[in-house]
Amino acid sequence: MSIIVDNISYTYEIGTGFEKQALKNVKCVINDGDFIGLIGHTGSGKSTFIQHLNGLVKATSGTIYFNGMDIYDKDFDMKMLRSKVGLVFQYPEHQLFETDIFKDVCFGPKNLGLPKMEVELRAFEALRLVGLDENLYYQSPFDLSGGQKRRVAIAGVLAMRPDVLILDEPTAGLDPKGRDEILDSIKDLKEKTGITVILVSHSMEDVAKYVNRIMVMNDGVLMYDDTPKHIFAGYRELEQIGLAAPQVTYIMNDLKNAGFAVDVNAITVEEA
Ligand code: ADP
Repeated sequence: MSIIVDNISYTYEIGTGFEKQALKNVKCVINDGDFIGLIGHTGSGKSTFIQHLNGLVKATSGTIYFNGMDIYDKDFDMKMLRSKVGLVFQYPEHQLFETDIFKDVCFGPKNLGLPKMEVELRAFEALRLVGLDENLYYQSPFDLSGGQKRRVAIAGVLAMRPDVLILDEPTAGLDPKGRDEILDSIKDLKEKTGITVILVSHSMEDVAKYVNRIMVMNDGVLMYDDTPKHIFAGYRELEQIGLAAPQVTYIMNDLKNAGFAVDVNAITVEEA
């Protein structure tokens, strides 16, 4: 699996007087197995960007290649793309609606037209991956805790067996316990399946511990795209000997100016 984002820009409400350019010449390559943290404060373009990756929003200019195929080509199979690039929206629990959890998770694969046995197999597999207690499978999703509901919603997308799982602010509105529960379960399913994960967050601290790549969006621009180590480690090490390198200081200042509370000491940096 590979996604090449080739210089995309996107403007909302073109020609209305309410025009808003939400993405500006974004270029990047998303590779198989990446675990990406997409960071940026509210309004920086994160949601707009991820909706391009599964074709929900069409770039105003530029294009995207999925496994080498131009997704805007008239012969391109958008339905395939939507099943391969799974998107878990913000507050996904609002989209739970079936009478029991198992039925809810079956909904997506059932809609793909798969045989009943395959649908159920996928639902069990997905619920196991998010670590939900088996005793809960046939209960109403509405009786669950916030963190549990969200794991059911993630299972619903995983049941489509996507190559890429994108989660938009998966910890929004959860208490610290729910937040850890979700992040740990994402880390766990990532380790078990090797699936490519894009974790969208406005909190650097939330994602830096988990991901192997950080993309920083600021005002529609992909400002940084690097390993957490490169973004933080240089600064921390050089600062300790009183020599914060100018280049790294610029990065930290950029991040602070973009509204991030950056606490370099809170970031764990793995050894090379
Ligand atoms: P983020 O996910 O980082 O909060 P968004 O992608 O939602 O950012 O928004 C990027 C910019 O596009 C913001 O200025 C936002 O106000 C604007 N925007 C988002 N959705 C719409 C829309 N449906 N119509 C007009 N402007 C929008």
